[in-house]
Amino acid sequence: MKPLVAITGASSGIGAAAARAFSEAGHPLLLTARRVELMEEMGLPDAICRAHDVVDAEGYRRLVDEAETRYGPVDLLVNNAGFMVLEEFAALSPEDWRQQFEVNCIGLLNTTSAVLPAMIERGTGTIMNIGSTAGRTMYPNHTVYNGTKYAVHAMTEGLRREAAPANVRVILISPGFVLTDLLTGTRAETIKEGYHAYRDEIGGALDPREIARAMLFAYEQPQHLCIWEMVVTPTRQLV
Ligand code: NDP
Repeated sequence: MKPLVAITGASSGIGAAAARAFSEAGHPLLLTARRVELMEEMGLPDAICRAHDVVDAEGYRRLVDEAETRYGPVDLLVNNAGFMVLEEFAALSPEDWRQQFEVNCIGLLNTTSAVLPAMIERGTGTIMNIGSTAGRTMYPNHTVYNGTKYAVHAMTEGLRREAAPANVRVILISPGFVLTDLLTGTRAETIKEGYHAYRDEIGGALDPREIARAMLFAYEQPQHLCIWEMVVTPTRQLV
């Protein structure tokens, strides 16, 4: 059997598409998100599906132990769980900005800390972080979400430099517009309409399976080859 792949936020969108793609490629999986039933409904073989909130670092260690006992070491961790609330800063609540930083940044550190030290010790393994074009360019109403994704990009580069001498890869996938449920965190109708209007203007969003294909391509390169970053957007997306 191929090595174990762990994916956070696997209950919908890009994470669910990645779960299917890595399963089709023959990998056993550790799938986590809060909505466990959605992951179980996918019915993937050799998949351990567990309800888990990425803010819980200790809980993730226990899940990694459980999965590794059955399938061997995690060879790839995909830090995909994410949350977005688009608003002018003044209209956001402390809970809005706390939640975005907790899921997108602290969560990524929690799950990474559960697997990276062992990868470095083994001298092999891959961490794949889902950043965004919002980690490269500022967009209107994105101040806090942009902040979380710029942080993801910075931390990915720092982790890459720390892990590289041990032959461990840290890869950044930066999608542009992808058709998922991500916008459901946003309350303001005018902002949602603007988001949809730009998406239509550029000929539509990508399918999550197109991002999953890029992720699989990056992972399937030989261990001595690291794709630092893949920016994957609809062709007509400008920034
Ligand atoms: P979705 O809303 O479809 O998926 C988000 C996933 O994150 C869900 O599985 C959700 O699971 C999980 N999640 C959210 N909060 C938590 C939490 N506290 N603990 C554990 N899991 C959590 O959106 P996408 O598929 O679009 O998002 C996936 C990643 O892609 C995110 O990091 C996002 O920022 C990034 N991205 C998306 C783009 C797009 O255009 N869609 C563009 C660029 C980047 P559950 O609710 O069950 O916990």
